[in-house]
Amino acid sequence: MTVNIILLGPPGAGKGTQAQKLVDDRGMVQLSTGDMLRAARSSGTEMGKRVAEVMDRGELVTDEIVIGLIREKLAEGGKGFIFDGFPRTLAQADALGKLLEETGEKLHSVIELRVDDEALVNRIVKRADEARAAGQPVRPDDTPEVFSDRLREYYKKTAPLLGYYYAKGELQQVDGMASMDNVAAQIEKVLDRQG
Ligand code: AMP
Repeated sequence: MTVNIILLGPPGAGKGTQAQKLVDDRGMVQLSTGDMLRAARSSGTEMGKRVAEVMDRGELVTDEIVIGLIREKLAEGGKGFIFDGFPRTLAQADALGKLLEETGEKLHSVIELRVDDEALVNRIVKRADEARAAGQPVRPDDTPEVFSDRLREYYKKTAPLLGYYYAKGELQQVDGMASMDNVAAQIEKVLDRQG
């Protein structure tokens, strides 16, 4: 059976890092709407220009845009999707449910990476420092100021999804404060459960 999962958690929780590990270890397909939007903005398309401003303010781009991006990627097919940073609103969650149904796919689980808020700001500052040290571009939204807006967006619009998936019996929680390898091991345990 194909295993499709959602990684849920605030910015800086480690969703991207864990998704990358699942790609390497299991050959799953990472669908990060953040990465797709960053690609769109750097390609300079009209849509890219529109979303850049919203992203730099730490706000969410419209449901219509991100659902469109995910719909395209799902149509390409693949083996086991990791939804990373999507869905972020209840409307997106409903849309994903419908898209999966249309393609005959099932959701195995929704994995919440639980982390303390104080740790998050430090992780973001570290991510920016590491990018700088490696000569890589620093994300314009990885500043403490924009970060607090991103966190507010998370609590306002995305945290309600925890209840949404809990009610469906799909929510699994892992301790995101543990080491990277330990978090990965906790996720493996969830994936090995029969869906
Ligand atoms: P991320 O890389 O997941 O932290 O996303 C970076 C930024 O892209 C977010 O702060 C939002 O502005 C935008 N974004 C990413 N995914 C979504 C989504 N599912 N819905 C709305 N906006 C998103």
